[in-house]
Amino acid sequence: MSDAISQPDKPESLPETAEGSKDLFSKFDPLIKQREDLLGSGFEDPFGLVMERVLSPVTAICNGRETILLGTYNYMGMTFDPDVIASGQAALADFGSGTTGSRVLNGTYVGHKETEKALCEFYGMDHAMVFSTGYQANLGIISTIAGKGDYIVLDIDSHASIWDGCALGNAEVVPFKHNDLEAMEKRLRRIPEGAGKLVVLEGVYSMLGDIAPLKEMIAIAKKYDAMILVDEAHSMGFIGPNGRGVAEDQGVLDDVDFVIGTFSKSVGTVGGFCVSNHPKFEIMRLVCRPYVFTASLPPSVVATATTSIRKLMDAGDKREHLWANSKRLHKGLKDLGFTLGTEEPESAIIAVIMPDLERGAGMWEALLKEGLYVNLARPPATPAGMTLLRCSLCAEHSEEQVGQILTMFEAAGKKTGII
Ligand code: PMP
Repeated sequence: MSDAISQPDKPESLPETAEGSKDLFSKFDPLIKQREDLLGSGFEDPFGLVMERVLSPVTAICNGRETILLGTYNYMGMTFDPDVIASGQAALADFGSGTTGSRVLNGTYVGHKETEKALCEFYGMDHAMVFSTGYQANLGIISTIAGKGDYIVLDIDSHASIWDGCALGNAEVVPFKHNDLEAMEKRLRRIPEGAGKLVVLEGVYSMLGDIAPLKEMIAIAKKYDAMILVDEAHSMGFIGPNGRGVAEDQGVLDDVDFVIGTFSKSVGTVGGFCVSNHPKFEIMRLVCRPYVFTASLPPSVVATATTSIRKLMDAGDKREHLWANSKRLHKGLKDLGFTLGTEEPESAIIAVIMPDLERGAGMWEALLKEGLYVNLARPPATPAGMTLLRCSLCAEHSEEQVGQILTMFEAAGKKTGII
């Protein structure tokens, strides 16, 4: 469900083209119309913004003006870290621009093994497998471990890559109400005895920025003998004493069978991974199609990932500053009268709930004119048909910038009548 890109509703019937054949694009007509209506009423395209120059993890030039970035996944601000950049440059010079091959053929370089070693150390786990994206990590691991005849019990607000992994594997998919322990247990209770079971959860849910009660959920999953996969995409590096995520923070990391993560957020580059203590985990490298049948990450990317992951092991000060930013912004927005996705700040994501898409787009544009970029998120990416302005903080936002952000929200909110 996550991520701000929309999918069309299914059409009731397919209209015919002039030649009498079906136009396969007609299913997109409702979305095309909604987009045209929005742009026709004078709004800038909220999904077409271009970063003309990126000045730092928290500032860029957009539409010719300096803009504060409050809508990236750059939680720990690693993209401009001098050590990260230097390691990428060295790998580019030493190993070339790409591997031109799969991890199981010519695409495993020493750099990929070093990233996997860094991940094992970061999580204190036995095995790590690096994928080309986090999307592929979910797609690959979920579809490979849960197939026909198995059951996947998952939170209904799960990320699109989790849903797609479920669909690819042909398992029975049983969603339950978001973060609802009773609903989750009810689904598990109904699964036929002897069937394979996988429970899929996220540490932080990226639309509202709320966290899962993993401790209680994992206890329930264990009671029904299910394996557990937790996607910690939005918590890695930030949440937990060592930045291992929500499972670490709640003291249940040892009970998780598979942690999925990404390099596209706190790590500051691109790529995905799964870490596990399962003794047979290494067989995944031969049977997981989204790992086998795609090219591996470029050497420069894995080099930056390794350096970043190692630096994140020792980033207590940054974690502290990011928590302070999150608390300050949450309180400031609440005091201004905005409706937020969570009562208290639970992560680096703070969702500001908009009354509808039109007013949400108006507020998004007003903020951009003030010099602030946030994400406009809408259904089906968002739960319960909500339109949100999603703010994601970075450890590199200064206290002064958080103050500026609040001033911009106040001005845009008053201008658009949201507050
Ligand atoms: N899981 C979750 C929860 C995510 O939010 C995302 C990306 N937004 C992914 C997985 C996929 O990560 P990537 O960008 O590396 O494909």
